[in-house]
Amino acid sequence: MNDIIKLLPDNIANQIAAGEVIQRPASVVKELLENAIDAGSTAISVNIKDAGKTLIQVVDDGVGMSPSDAVLCFKRHATSKVRTAEDLFALTTKGFRGEALASIAAISHVEMKTRTATNDVGQILRIEGSEIKQQEDVVCPVGTSFEVKNLFFNVPARRNFLKKESTEFKHIQDEFDRIALAHPDLHLTLTHNGAEIHNLHPAVLRKRIVNLFGGNSNDRLVPIDETTEIVSLKGFVLKPEHARKTRGEQFLFVNNRFFKSSFFNHAVTKAFEGLLKPKSFPGYFLYMEVDPQKIDVNVHPTKTEIKFEEDKFIYSILLSSIRQALGKYNIAPTLEFEQETSFEIPHAMKSQPAVEPTINVDTEFNPFKTTSNPISSGSGYGKTKDNLTKGIASQGFGLNKASASDWEGFYSIEEKPDNTEENYPPIDMDDTMENISTFIVKGSYIITPSKSGLMMIHARRAIEQIVYTEIHNSFIINPIKSQKLLFPIEKEVSTNEIALWNENASILKQLGYQGVIEGKLLKVDSVPAVIQEESISSSLDEIFQGIGFKEIEKGDIAHTLVLAIAKSAAMKKMNLNTNESIQALINQLFQCENHTYSPRKKKIIETITLDDIQHKFN
Ligand code: ADP
Ligand code: MG
Repeated sequence: MNDIIKLLPDNIANQIAAGEVIQRPASVVKELLENAIDAGSTAISVNIKDAGKTLIQVVDDGVGMSPSDAVLCFKRHATSKVRTAEDLFALTTKGFRGEALASIAAISHVEMKTRTATNDVGQILRIEGSEIKQQEDVVCPVGTSFEVKNLFFNVPARRNFLKKESTEFKHIQDEFDRIALAHPDLHLTLTHNGAEIHNLHPAVLRKRIVNLFGGNSNDRLVPIDETTEIVSLKGFVLKPEHARKTRGEQFLFVNNRFFKSSFFNHAVTKAFEGLLKPKSFPGYFLYMEVDPQKIDVNVHPTKTEIKFEEDKFIYSILLSSIRQALGKYNIAPTLEFEQETSFEIPHAMKSQPAVEPTINVDTEFNPFKTTSNPISSGSGYGKTKDNLTKGIASQGFGLNKASASDWEGFYSIEEKPDNTEENYPPIDMDDTMENISTFIVKGSYIITPSKSGLMMIHARRAIEQIVYTEIHNSFIINPIKSQKLLFPIEKEVSTNEIALWNENASILKQLGYQGVIEGKLLKVDSVPAVIQEESISSSLDEIFQGIGFKEIEKGDIAHTLVLAIAKSAAMKKMNLNTNESIQALINQLFQCENHTYSPRKKKIIETITLDDIQHKFN
């Protein structure tokens, strides 16, 4: 039989490639803008006619191209950005595939003028459907300008499927917005049919957002700023009351590249849980910096999908830093929300003046800190155990930030409208702060009188909540203090558990767990300092059980892991046999933002009111 395979001519190959890269006029705008940025431009102007059907013009002041590069740039796989295979794994430029210009030139009429600083004259090139029609010297400024006309002239199907002008222009504007947000330091203009849509001068990010989205955006923004080894996260979220009915203002960037991710969007949405009106979407402008080696940009031709090696870790950072930021700006209490996520203030506290309370808590004490405090300095087990007990009993439970400023914030909440008043347990802080008598029933329930009756505290849940709050609030920024085991704990694990351990290794490490897998054995040699020897194995069971659930794959790994640690830490035999030790526990509990419900949503505090008591004697 005769050979029938033939190589496609370049122009057809380019047209096929164009089908993937260039879907609509907005794709051309995106590719040309990205090239201009990669060329080191400081000012770029975009001029559009008829939503790009008639003209797309992009003019930059970047490095320009030499006469021979000016021809070469339209060839497929012609790029100045990638030389070796390794380059592909550490991309710092927007482009790298060398396809965009070849694709655009295959399906439109392109005129390009370009000049480098070392050339006195520039080059003009005219190309129609991959065919060079003109190339000659031209007088032009340093930089590059592209005019793209008659887009899809030779692909009628594409041209016919273009949407109405307003829709196509909206797509162009979206691409422009993404670039403008990723590069607030650039001067960018956008005109459409002669009308100036945007003229954005270099600005700080906050100002750029306001310039793009209008007038009062400024007081709608809550800053986010978190730096960890794996990712640094900056940017803003919109206050919950400004959430939209559409997903309009949702922007994620990694290394200044816009991308879409339903996984990370889930994390942000979860952080807003309970704060949004039904069917509204949170707004966000979030910028991540990660090691370019730890992401893969090359999974989709338009590069808006990106694979992250550490996606679960980043998910947790997004979730906890946004939650924290929303809390810090006292946003939570202005809205109705679930009790579990609220800042609950005991009833009586609300009528008190804003003074720093005289709680007898060692504010320096923090069992999770890396300094030489009694708990974290434990190098072996027995020592740690004794000191942990001592820590709870006499010093408080390790809220490391009980400073005056925290309390100011705490009190300032009282000025906000309060919708959940009915649910506050009528606890009088005066009573709990002072050395009034407390006692513990069956080693489990703390009973203490309060002005309005009797308060009962579930001791184990209280400890669980205290440990949970402490770790969850801090582990992202400061790795949890771990203790090295003299003898590694060995645990037989399934293939599934091996995979879970490996997948979550970095977040586990941040929480204090380290270990190696050998065959079917997991050898754990470091665990969080708050966990005692006898609880290590069960803490691992808790962890595997928690993260093994299918829905957790999308959900909040950090919550699940911290929950497991808090539960295991609360398992220990509590040494609550002195009045002071019980008092310390109560004080620590009341420093938690939420002290009425445990992280498992179980009730921690119950009160019997005087009425209740009187009623019993009727
Ligand atoms: P890629 O951006 O993936 O490298 P393109 O087809 O978009 O591929 O561009 C091909 C090459 O043309 C680029 O690598 C760059 O060297 C050059 N180029 C494109 N646009 C510009 C520009 N505006 N200024 C300077 N050089 C450019
Ligand atoms: Mg490019």
